[in-house]
Amino acid sequence: MLDDLIQDKCGVFGIWGDKNASERTFVGLHLLQHRGQEHCGIVSATKKKFYKKHCEGIVNEAFSNEDLRNLRGRAAIGHVKYTTQGSSSMVNAQPFLRHTKHGNIALAHNGEFANQNSLREMFEKEGHVFTTTSDTELPIHFYGLTDGNTIEEKMRDTFELLKPAYAIVMLTRNELMGIRDVSGVRPLVIGELSNGATIFASETVAFDAIGAKYIGEVEPGELVIVNDGGIRRVQLLERKERLSCVFEHIYFGRPDSFQFGSDVTNSVLRKELGAQLYREHPIEADVVTPMPDSSNDAALGFSEESYKNGKGTPFGFGIVRSHYIGRTFIEPTQALRDIGVTKKFNVNKSEVQGKSVVVVDDSIIRATTLKKLVKKIKHFGAKEVHVRVTSPPYKHACYLGINTPEKKRLIAHREGSVDGVRKFIGADSLGYLSKEGMLSNKYFKGMSYCTHCFDGVRKIRRS
Ligand code: SF4
Repeated sequence: MLDDLIQDKCGVFGIWGDKNASERTFVGLHLLQHRGQEHCGIVSATKKKFYKKHCEGIVNEAFSNEDLRNLRGRAAIGHVKYTTQGSSSMVNAQPFLRHTKHGNIALAHNGEFANQNSLREMFEKEGHVFTTTSDTELPIHFYGLTDGNTIEEKMRDTFELLKPAYAIVMLTRNELMGIRDVSGVRPLVIGELSNGATIFASETVAFDAIGAKYIGEVEPGELVIVNDGGIRRVQLLERKERLSCVFEHIYFGRPDSFQFGSDVTNSVLRKELGAQLYREHPIEADVVTPMPDSSNDAALGFSEESYKNGKGTPFGFGIVRSHYIGRTFIEPTQALRDIGVTKKFNVNKSEVQGKSVVVVDDSIIRATTLKKLVKKIKHFGAKEVHVRVTSPPYKHACYLGINTPEKKRLIAHREGSVDGVRKFIGADSLGYLSKEGMLSNKYFKGMSYCTHCFDGVRKIRRS
C-alpha cells in the first residue's frame, strides 16, 4: 500500500471489571494505533461518574501517567480515529460521552452507517440538533428517544434502523456492550483476562500485550452485554449475508491479528495470497521485494511459491521504509508531499542493481508513489521491474467505513485496463490477483466477504 490514502476509519477497545481499566485501554489503543492516528480518546466510569480525555495525535504522546490516574473506574472504552466521514476537528473525537434520559452513555464506533444521510435528514427535519458532523451521533439520538424498559429493548430501538457498517462499544454506569452490524463488515472481538475482566477490541493484537485470552468474535447482529453478573449474548438483529471487509485481511489488520474467525493470523493468510499471486502471474526474476511493511508476508509467500514451481526467486528488501516520518497525506502541498514520499521510501541499491526485480504490493490506489519508486528502482540500475499485486484492481470507493479517494482518482478506474496502469507506473509487467484467486484463500474458511471496491457490487443499500 503505497499511497497512504486508504485508511481504516478507527479502532475501538472496551474493558469491564479491572482496576487498571484505563491503563489497559491505553495499551490496547496503542496496539490498535495502525487503525487511526488523528485522534484518540478514553472514557472511563465508576458507578457514580464518567471521566474522559481526548487528544489529537498518537496514543503514546497523548496520555500522561496523571491522565490515566484521573481516568478512574473499573470500566473504560477507547478509540483511535482516522476521519472518513465528518471533519477531522476535535469535536468529532471519540468516544462520545452524552447525557440522555437513561443516564450517561459513552460510545465508540468503527465503520460508517450506509444510510446516515437519510437518517440525519429525518432527525434534522424533526428539530434534532447535531453537535458534530460525525455519523456516530445517530445511535445516540436513537438511544435518547427509546422508551424500552430493558437494555436489550433500548439497544434494539437504537440499532434497528442503522445500516452497516458498525462495530461499536458502549458504556453506561451499569454495563459495557459490544455490538456489530448484521453483515459483520467491520471486526470486533472478545477477550478475557485471568481476573475475569471482559474486553472488546477491533483486533486480537490488542489482547496480546495485556495478557488477555481471545474468546471469539461478536457475531453479526449480536449484542454482548457485560456487567458484574457476567456476560450475556443476545442475537439482537437478524443476521444478513455476511460481508466482512476483505481489505482487513489484505492490508488493514495487523499481521499478528486473527480476524473474522480465521484460525491463522493475517501474516499466514497474506503469505497464501502471495503464493496464489505467483501461481496466477509467475515470473522468473532475480529478487522479490515487498512494499514494506504491509506486503512483507505476501512477498515472502510469492518467493516461496516460486521455488516450488520453478528455479525460484529470492526475497530481498529492495525498498526500505523509514518508520520515523509522519504520513505523507498531512503535508499541505504537493511539493511537500513529494519530498515526504522520497523521505519515506528509499531503494536499496545493492538489492536491485543489475537485477530483474519483482515488487509485490497489496493494492494500488492512486499509484503516484509506486510510479516514483519504479522509476527510482530503474535509476538505481535494475534491468526490469515487474509489479505484482495481491488484490484485484481497486476501482470503486468504499462506502462502509474506509477512507478512499474519489473514484476518478483511483488509477485502476481512471486507466480502465491493466496495461493502462502498467504504462502509468512504468513497469515492465503488471499482474493483479484475480477476485476468484483472492477468495479461494484456504484460510478464509468459507467466510463471505465484501468485494465492492473491486467489483462495484453494492449489497448494502445506502437508503
Ligand atoms: S468496499 Fe472494500 S474496503 Fe470497503 S468494506 Fe468493502 S471490501 Fe472493505
